[in-house]
Amino acid sequence: MLFNTSIIKKLQKSNLIGRGCNNFLVADKWLSVKNAGIKGDKFVVCNVSESEPGMFKDEYVLKNFSERVIDGIKIAMKFIRAKKGFIYLNPEYFKDFQDYLLPEISAQKVNIELYEKPLHDYVGGEETSLLNSMQGLRVEPRFKPPFPTTHGFFNQPTIINNCETFYAVSLINSGEYKNIKFYCLSGDEVDNSVKELPVNITIKKCLQEFGHKSSDKYFYQVGGGAAGFCYNYKQLNRAFAGNPSIIIYKKNRPEKDLILHWLQFFKNESCGKCLPCREGTYRLLKLLEKQYAGENQDQAVINDLIFTIQNTSFCGLGKVACNAVVSYWKNICPKK
Ligand code: SF4
Repeated sequence: MLFNTSIIKKLQKSNLIGRGCNNFLVADKWLSVKNAGIKGDKFVVCNVSESEPGMFKDEYVLKNFSERVIDGIKIAMKFIRAKKGFIYLNPEYFKDFQDYLLPEISAQKVNIELYEKPLHDYVGGEETSLLNSMQGLRVEPRFKPPFPTTHGFFNQPTIINNCETFYAVSLINSGEYKNIKFYCLSGDEVDNSVKELPVNITIKKCLQEFGHKSSDKYFYQVGGGAAGFCYNYKQLNRAFAGNPSIIIYKKNRPEKDLILHWLQFFKNESCGKCLPCREGTYRLLKLLEKQYAGENQDQAVINDLIFTIQNTSFCGLGKVACNAVVSYWKNICPKK
């Protein structure tokens, strides 16, 4: 598609917010990179590390709209005069989508390289961990500021956006954007599915669009299968926060299995850089394993540990590690 020099005005008018987790205005990010005032090369990275359980919309976008994604990256590269673009893919997607992406890159005559994320790890999706990964460094978040907009790939100004963002950029550039985005549904008694629905839809309306009638027989984890919050069926008249994903659970799922599963996930995915997350997720898991095995634990200690993990962890992974557990106890199965 032809590059339109007014792309930044179109992005500003559309109010497009990045479709990763940072909720940052795309136009502002692109302008920060363009005006970074750092000598040397600039880069664009398309983030397709998607590794939150219950999230598969980037997979859907790549499968169905790879030409739009490449077009969006190309538009970004032209806007900042980037030397090179990258598509950062988790290992499964690298294997599955090379054959979709490489011919399209070649057809659109753009300098984009596919980069295979070394592991299917969770923290590698965070933008500075992603940069470390691409530079062969330990995969852990960097201190911010400076931000990747000025000090990104090899400390050069870098646009990093999710692949759905580039898809939306392409639609905006060609005047076909309709203020909609992709939502994922999975869980008990439903097949995994993806739908394109309005940006500000409520959770309840989204479930209806997928053909699910919310009821007391279920509860819902919204925002991802690890970091998402649990809501009962009366709490769904609210907008999404975080990832656009809903997982449906039957109410009779054993509490112990759910809680330990969520904690085990974060204990395994903690990169180990900071103590509150590295030790906190491990200690919380051990305390609750003992509690569910019948050994009474001091709830005040558990609450303190959760508070510390949520409020003193270095990056978003630690800050969201207890979302599911705390919201489950609050909204689904209040502790006596
Ligand atoms: S919160 Fe700390 S240990 Fe956990 S992933 Fe982030 S930097 Fe690593």
